[in-house]
Amino acid sequence: MRFPGVPKVSIVLALGWLAVAGTLPANARPARNVIILLGDAGGLPTLSAAGILAHDRPQSLFIQSMPNIALSDTSSLNRWVTDSAAGMTAIVTGHKTNNGMVSVIPSADGSAVTRVKTLLEYAEERGLSTGVVTNMAIWDATPAACYAHVAARSSKDEIFRQLLAPRFGNGVDILIGKGLADANASFAKLGTTPAIAFAGAGYRFGGDPAAVTRDTRRAAVLRDEDFAAIPAVEGAIASLSRNGKGYFLMVEWDMHTDDPQKGLRHAVEMDDLVRRVSAIAGEDTLILFVADHSFGLKMRGGVRATPFASQFTGAAEDKESPIAVEDTHTGEEVVAAASGPGSEKVRGFLPNTRLFEIMMRALGWSATR
Ligand SMILES: [Zn+2]
Repeated sequence: MRFPGVPKVSIVLALGWLAVAGTLPANARPARNVIILLGDAGGLPTLSAAGILAHDRPQSLFIQSMPNIALSDTSSLNRWVTDSAAGMTAIVTGHKTNNGMVSVIPSADGSAVTRVKTLLEYAEERGLSTGVVTNMAIWDATPAACYAHVAARSSKDEIFRQLLAPRFGNGVDILIGKGLADANASFAKLGTTPAIAFAGAGYRFGGDPAAVTRDTRRAAVLRDEDFAAIPAVEGAIASLSRNGKGYFLMVEWDMHTDDPQKGLRHAVEMDDLVRRVSAIAGEDTLILFVADHSFGLKMRGGVRATPFASQFTGAAEDKESPIAVEDTHTGEEVVAAASGPGSEKVRGFLPNTRLFEIMMRALGWSATR
């Protein structure tokens, strides 16, 4: 075929452009930033009970108003009921793995493991800024799955070592979490302290989340006490969003309801956080709330027109309590709720590994080794 007057090279470029354009809807813009808000053990029964406890109305959480939702399978490679290690590995690498494994997958005969690249590592490789915030220990399975690769989630010393020996970029830029005593013990084995080791890697080290601001380039905040989610995450976003290339942020808020009073309070804290993040993150940010697995909480009673909080004592031995808890992870699907560029793919029943693919696609990235 001849196109009179059109140089051949232009046709090739035009076809190339069409091929690229054909992979995205006509008006789609890639996401600049991705924020995962990970409710650890925050399954549907926990969300539903937390909303009623906080607001005395059904479906009153912000999460329950998000525009796109899916039901995510959480089974791991070797178990129907996952732990946090395999659950988070699936979400941030797109690979199902065995329970207890952190961003590695087993070989066919089970004799070895292979590292699988995480969304945080893809972001570091491309020059984005990255952050991890958690109300658990910073080396625990969920945060570790973002930046470390170990066959056993209990390998605390090795997880701390890898945190300061990143495979891509300069590693996590903003770290806020618990586990200071654990860090002290791990770095003591190397004859050093967390303060010295993190400072050596370019971090401002301390224990106060309020120290992370727009002026912060790299910071590690480690402590053993609880801290408030919203100011810590606002500080992290202020710091990370200085990078014009974008950022990846993972916030884990533990919602295990083995202590139902505490777990449900954490669920409400997370919901308030999702609302706040949605208000400040900007429309070029894909926001994904999801749980790594569900938990054995059951709402089995309660009358309306009386504050639910007055009916729920939170005492485990209370046989009349409207909320009963069996202290175990459970295997049913969890809610994934999302907004922002690419979030329209969060719909229907899907495997947890699909969430990784949705985030990569939203960023316009394809998987590599
Ligand atoms: Zn978990």
